[in-house]
Amino acid sequence: MLGPVILAASRSDKMRRVISAAPVTKPVVNRFIAGETVDETVPVVRDSAARGLEVTLDVLGEDITDASEALRARDAYLELIEALKPLGLGERAEMSVKLSSFGQALPGGHDLALKNVTPVVEAAAEIGTTVTLDMEDHTTVDSTLAIHAELRERFPRTGAVVQSYLFRTEDDCRMLAEAGSRVRLVKGAYKEPASVAYQNKAEVDKAYIRCLRILMEGEGYPMIGSHDPRIISITQELARRAGRKLDDYEFQMLYGIREAEQARLAAEGHRMRLYIAYGTDWYGYFMRRLAERPANLAFFLRSLATR
Ligand code: FAD
Repeated sequence: MLGPVILAASRSDKMRRVISAAPVTKPVVNRFIAGETVDETVPVVRDSAARGLEVTLDVLGEDITDASEALRARDAYLELIEALKPLGLGERAEMSVKLSSFGQALPGGHDLALKNVTPVVEAAAEIGTTVTLDMEDHTTVDSTLAIHAELRERFPRTGAVVQSYLFRTEDDCRMLAEAGSRVRLVKGAYKEPASVAYQNKAEVDKAYIRCLRILMEGEGYPMIGSHDPRIISITQELARRAGRKLDDYEFQMLYGIREAEQARLAAEGHRMRLYIAYGTDWYGYFMRRLAERPANLAFFLRSLATR
């Protein structure tokens, strides 16, 4: 079970320095990351839109240690929104934000993150789009859902993310499955203790389906964040049973993963949104992708061995 070891390394500064400096890392990172700058990323957005895909954009950054870094995160999103404006994609290009990069873990973090993220949500609304709050480790869930509720008072399209590996999530789904809400359901990507989360993949998958059923039978707009073929076909079946049309829910996948499946779902008329991450602070995001799949780790190790 290498996944938990890699997830532990994703929080280690020493490993961050070693892996970030390794010359072979970059080409592997580039499989999952659209670029380092807005200018490198906008063509990817344009190309995705031309292929009938919607996008959600994540400016990489998390676990900051200083309030000035939170302002940098805010400004990076404002720069992104300016660059998206001329494309006129509206909600076909939305944003995903990690509140830790807006200061959530600093002293007074709840208010700080809300203060810093609000201008981003306002600017997104001005160009006809919206923001989804990514979910990070379990210690942040209450604060993130509270910020989500506060933002929704002014910006009802603000999205939330729930993770099926957490025991609490079925209740959160019931609370969130109300009219007008946008909820992304994922399995969960962090290393969580057995006191709060299922440790076994089969349990996480079963919980995902229970949560999916709640969201599909509810009044909100479910966003299915998964590459899992079984989850995708169960989604289609539950949506049919709930009487949902193809535009009453959407699939979401990460950039660089299962591209043929993304194209297939879009060609079938599904709303298919690509989660596109970009920026220089890619270490945590990259390590979580390695932890999710042994084949990704093998690809990385092979490229080390062939140097
Ligand atoms: P798995 O059971 O992990 O995999 C099923 C199949 O999908 C695999 O057999 C393989 O074919 C394919 N696959 C899965 N992962 C990979 C990969 N990395 N590389 C190549 N193939 C792969 N997690 C959070 O904790 N918070 C978030 O806010 C969050 N946002 C997300 C947004 C989107 C759009 C997506 C797609 C995922 C997000 N995640 C988030 C990550 C999520 O929690 C899972 O870790 C990740 O999606 C892997 O789970 P899975 O459902 O794809 O299925």
